[in-house]
Amino acid sequence: MSDDHSFETLAIHAGNTADPLTGAVVPPIYQVSTYKQDGVGGLRGGYEYSRSANPTRTALEENLAALEGGSVGLAFASGLAAEDCLLRTLLSPGDHVVIPNDAYGGTFRLFAKVVSRWGVTFSVADSSDPAAVRAALTPKTKVIWVETPSNPLLGISDIQALAGVARAAGVRLVVDNTFASPYLQQPLALGADVVVHSTTKYMGGHSDVVGGALIVNDTALGEELAYHQNAMGAVAGPFDAWLVLRGIKTLAVRMDRHSENATRVADMLTRHPRVTQVLYPGLPEHPGHETAAKQMKAFGGMVSFRVEGGEEAAVEVCNRAKLFTLGESLGGVESLIEHPGRMTHASVVGSALEVPGDLVRLSVGIESGDDLLADLKQMLG
Ligand SMILES: *Cc1c(COP(=O)(O)O)cnc(C)c1O
Repeated sequence: MSDDHSFETLAIHAGNTADPLTGAVVPPIYQVSTYKQDGVGGLRGGYEYSRSANPTRTALEENLAALEGGSVGLAFASGLAAEDCLLRTLLSPGDHVVIPNDAYGGTFRLFAKVVSRWGVTFSVADSSDPAAVRAALTPKTKVIWVETPSNPLLGISDIQALAGVARAAGVRLVVDNTFASPYLQQPLALGADVVVHSTTKYMGGHSDVVGGALIVNDTALGEELAYHQNAMGAVAGPFDAWLVLRGIKTLAVRMDRHSENATRVADMLTRHPRVTQVLYPGLPEHPGHETAAKQMKAFGGMVSFRVEGGEEAAVEVCNRAKLFTLGESLGGVESLIEHPGRMTHASVVGSALEVPGDLVRLSVGIESGDDLLADLKQMLG
């Protein structure tokens, strides 16, 4: 599949070549661990053992690379497995990382509780301010990590500006593109070195699979990551790879609808008397609105808001949801609601990343916008 096709076409066709044996138009689920060799070392298509490579996973990996404009894509068992592989490939004891002051709780936990035990240190900086990130660099810094839009405060960081900071310092910029998806935002084209995904979210899109991905356009780095992916082994299984590849085919139309519904939800919440603040990069009053408009095609499906009356009131709102499902995760076709302080971000309580108690996070799905607005209005009472 040539790279000059548009995103919507690549989403459906990249990596999805018809099965050479039968002509099946969808890559089969190669539910297999090992491959018959034609004489010792005589591999068919390079396949030898499914931790190293599996044809269904290859199809997904080629698709991921095409969608992010990279040369190498790698699929993992979860987003955190992808992050772990990346960090253990890039870092050694003594190295330092700058992480954002608003990040997925599990990412923070990986740095604070796991990677730190191996002698890697980190500083927390406001990544919406490139000067603050530059000021947090030390001679030992190897990586700047950023999530934009961020989870759960929907902060926006200027990828191009941070890529400039990283380049000047000779460090790598990693962008977690989970909230935007490659349809809305292309970090490699903006100068990032590595894109991270939890494919569990918008890429899979149907709340039926857990997966992760890394995409790079530096082929030497890609080979190093692939070496570690095989050496450490947290690969995506064939069925999981197939589900993500299937989900990606509708990514563009889903993201358009997610963004449209989220815009309506954010507008309604802005006018609601019980809502004290709405965090959505599509709103002109959002501090990152201009940057988001510059680097994103639309503003995505995630909306957070703060409720009058504090934490108990926010929990009460979540408990009254009917059409929105009370649950963790995001990015599926169905709308979800959660209380970050007590759910997804419980692991950052007491840290510099602690989130406000009166915060509610929505993953706005692709149901009828009218029905979603009606449910939110009854929740807010
Ligand atoms: C969910 C998520 C992760 C972790 O991915 P898993 O698939 O749950 O391991 C990382 N970053 C962001 C922004 C996420 O939302």
